Amino acid sequence: MASVACSLVLGRGFSCAKTPTRSPIACLRLSRAVSCKMRNRHLSSQQKRQQFKRAPTERLSLNMNAQSHDNIGCEPEEASSAGVSHSSQITIPSNDAESDSNSETDVAVSSFEETNMVIENNDEQEHPSIHLEDLIATIRNAEKIEELDKILSEKEALQAEINNLEMKLAETDARIKVAAQEKINAELLENQLEKLKTEISSRNSIEEGKHGTLDDESPLVLELNDLRKENALLKDDIQMLKLKLADVSKTEERLPLLEKRHSLLEASLMELQSQLSNAQDDVSRLASLRYECKALLDKVENLQALFNDASRVMDQPTLGLQQYHELQKKVDKIEALVTEATVSKFPSENFHHYDETLREKIELLEKQLWESDQEIHSQIQLFQESVREFHDALERLKEEIEKRSQELSLENLPQEFWSRLLLIIDGWLLEKKISVNDAKLLREMTWKKDAQIRDAYLASRSKSEHEKLATFLKLTYSRTSPGMHIIHIAAEMAPVAKVGGLGDVISGLGKALQRKGHLVEIVLPKYDCMQYDLITDMKALDVVVESYFDGQLFRNKIWVGIIEGLPVYFIEPHHPAKFFWRGKYYGEYDDFKRFSFFSRAAVELLYQAGKKPDIIHCHDWQTAFVAPLYWDIYAAKGFNSARICFTCHNFEYQGTVPASELASCGLDVHQLNRPDRMRDHSADDKVNTVKGAIVFSNIVTTVSPTYSQEVRTVEGGRGLHETLKSHSKKFIGILNGIDTDAWNPSTDNYISVQYSADDLQGKAENKDAIRKCLKLSRSEGSQPLVGCITRLVPQKGVHLIRHAIYCALELGGQFVLLGSSPVPHIQREFEDIANHFQSHSHVRLLLKYDDALSHLIYAASDMFIIPSMFEPCGLTQMIAMRYGSVPIVRKTGGLNDSVFDVDDNTIPEQYQNGFTFVAPDEQGLSSAMERAFQHYIRSPESWQQLVQKDMRLDFSWDSSASQYEELYERSVARARAAARV
Ligand code: ADP
Repeated sequence: MASVACSLVLGRGFSCAKTPTRSPIACLRLSRAVSCKMRNRHLSSQQKRQQFKRAPTERLSLNMNAQSHDNIGCEPEEASSAGVSHSSQITIPSNDAESDSNSETDVAVSSFEETNMVIENNDEQEHPSIHLEDLIATIRNAEKIEELDKILSEKEALQAEINNLEMKLAETDARIKVAAQEKINAELLENQLEKLKTEISSRNSIEEGKHGTLDDESPLVLELNDLRKENALLKDDIQMLKLKLADVSKTEERLPLLEKRHSLLEASLMELQSQLSNAQDDVSRLASLRYECKALLDKVENLQALFNDASRVMDQPTLGLQQYHELQKKVDKIEALVTEATVSKFPSENFHHYDETLREKIELLEKQLWESDQEIHSQIQLFQESVREFHDALERLKEEIEKRSQELSLENLPQEFWSRLLLIIDGWLLEKKISVNDAKLLREMTWKKDAQIRDAYLASRSKSEHEKLATFLKLTYSRTSPGMHIIHIAAEMAPVAKVGGLGDVISGLGKALQRKGHLVEIVLPKYDCMQYDLITDMKALDVVVESYFDGQLFRNKIWVGIIEGLPVYFIEPHHPAKFFWRGKYYGEYDDFKRFSFFSRAAVELLYQAGKKPDIIHCHDWQTAFVAPLYWDIYAAKGFNSARICFTCHNFEYQGTVPASELASCGLDVHQLNRPDRMRDHSADDKVNTVKGAIVFSNIVTTVSPTYSQEVRTVEGGRGLHETLKSHSKKFIGILNGIDTDAWNPSTDNYISVQYSADDLQGKAENKDAIRKCLKLSRSEGSQPLVGCITRLVPQKGVHLIRHAIYCALELGGQFVLLGSSPVPHIQREFEDIANHFQSHSHVRLLLKYDDALSHLIYAASDMFIIPSMFEPCGLTQMIAMRYGSVPIVRKTGGLNDSVFDVDDNTIPEQYQNGFTFVAPDEQGLSSAMERAFQHYIRSPESWQQLVQKDMRLDFSWDSSASQYEELYERSVARARAAARV
């Protein structure tokens, strides 16, 4: 299309070919502008003639004007209508392109129909056909493009004709000008001739008077003859010019006709242009519909894959069941044999021996049976979860489709819809279910036909009145509230008091929520070993908060300070046990007392400070006490504005103690030591703090979607799977983010050279620097360096970490480990390995906690190993990727949600970012490491692309914080609705 349109103006000397991005419409407009100028010049032949004299210069300036118009006219067009060039591509009248686009349309239509069919088959529900029909109609409309192409070619022909005529006109103009000039010359010559004639005749009469007649050879006679000849020639010329003038007059007579035709052509051109822009609108709409259609298809494919996975998981229990039946048969057989043998009472030693062996075998088989039974159960659980997930996803898709189809039809919602909505709101107001202010806001939104209230109404149509109210109040809340007041009570906060991921979450999530406009505050214990230099404006308040513990009140000194821009309260207990004066954060004999004291003092502080938070968010068992304390003790005192959110960062640690210990912080042991409250599954006289928080919180989260599924199984839940199941409605997994300000290789002051995905030179320099610093061999720059930064605990797969050291060496790489262990025998084991490799040129083990060194290792390593047995979320894989270190991980928990194998074809390429293995054994790890080394060594270029891709992935807190925000808001709105119903 672009080339066709441009050829129209090429004849006039305005080339669009040199500006390929220019839109065809711009070029057509330009051609019209020039034609208008030409038409104006033909107002009268008199004016024309005058203009012909100036024609060459004027034509030049006209060209120049048009050129500058061209430039000015085209740019906004380009800037404002990216869609024009887009649609012009689609409408290129080439047969191939046309058939391609048609077949594509067909596929899109049939696939879309398939989509609907799949959903209908699965759910036997009626689905919105309006959307589909609209889509098909729109796609069919696109067939008009063919017609448009014809019209365009006709338009081209007409335009070519216009060009021809205009060229002829220009030629004629030029001839007229020449003729006019010639005529003037002839007239001048005639005048000159006349003058000469008169002069000659007067001279002749004088000469005749003097000398008689002139001689034929006289110069005067010769000159006269020459002049006569010239005169005759000029007469011929004049004759010719007269003929030409006659021609010109005829052409002039034709001019009005031509002009009429020209204007007709222009009118049809305009019509064609409007048809073209309509068609372009259609085409761009079609493109967006195709895109939507594709997105829906992708979703359906995902669901299909999910379903297939679920079916595969389903197959496993079936297999297990088969095995179970086979084993059962064998047992029956053996039992029959035993009975037979017993009946025959074969009295020999051999028999007893045989009997013993058989019994052992039976026991073994029974054990196997039991195990397979367990396996089947957990597989079935997993399968049920997958099916549930599948159904959830399906529901979401259905909702989306419904929403889309509603959106299409909602533009013309009848007035009844809005009136009904107004009456509902008024009803609620009169029934005192909503406040006057809320009603006012909702009525205003209804008046204005606000899309949000429309969606809220449609989304909650089939729900209970309570849920409807919650949905509507959420709308008013988000409009009136400046943000929520959120208070985190935690045992860690990075960077001042960090042991592991929890510390990162408190500052990362806190900052992200703060950025979203919420008031975020943190309450921490005042540890003696905190990094005080990272706290600004720290000071003790002139206030003492007394809190209950072990039957008496203890004084707490309250400190405040700012960490990473967040306001933090520190509690310093004046308790003889000096709870936070131990030189370490955890691992004390009285940890339960330390943190139950802190939890009680923290809630007391909020209560005494008169705070009215919307959300109190507690983390892990150390502050899990907050949930039962709040509802059991403080809500009754009127401190009840908040909803409680509890996040379990690791179900391995549940704070399980003898029930009597719970009384220290003031909780009622008798009331709470019940199976449905805090009693631990292991013994009747033990309580479980994490269980208490699950039961007493309004929102319960864990740190990744996969882990939230794993902990619902017998093995993963560590005894809490039943509790989680019965509270599953409020339980969700949200993947943690990382603090992308603190972990940023382009601004990181801990590393030797800063770098980014666009310039990886600095990464190589960091590698060299760390090798130099740790006295590792620097001879081969391309020798891969494997890093590992971890707490050395069984969860992290310590035996596999040890194996990875030897595996990296075998594969020709280098290995650096930074880690420390709270488990003495593991620490000793790694100290031995560290000593063994003390002066090795390719391996170094640094058995300590060192934040600065961790930054250097992330920056220097090419690969990063995380072979965890289970991993709730894991931050190191995300940090490693941000620093361009490709992760090699076991597929579990959060690792499964953030690392996707480069060699897994079922994963879209844009998500492939590392190497994964499933079996928690050396073989699994070795094969993943081998693959990583092969990729690294064989194709350095694609490795570099992988590194750059990983560095550009977004693991910031923004999206996770939005999910928390949504949970908080929903919970707060529900509480408000409940308070009114
Ligand atoms: P977990 O919380 O289970 O320890 P995560 O992967 O969630 O594991 O978080 C670990 C965090 O602790 C990361 O920020 C990591 O860099 C840091 N880390 C772990 N061990 C060390 C160490 N020895 N020195 C410095 N930082 C460490």
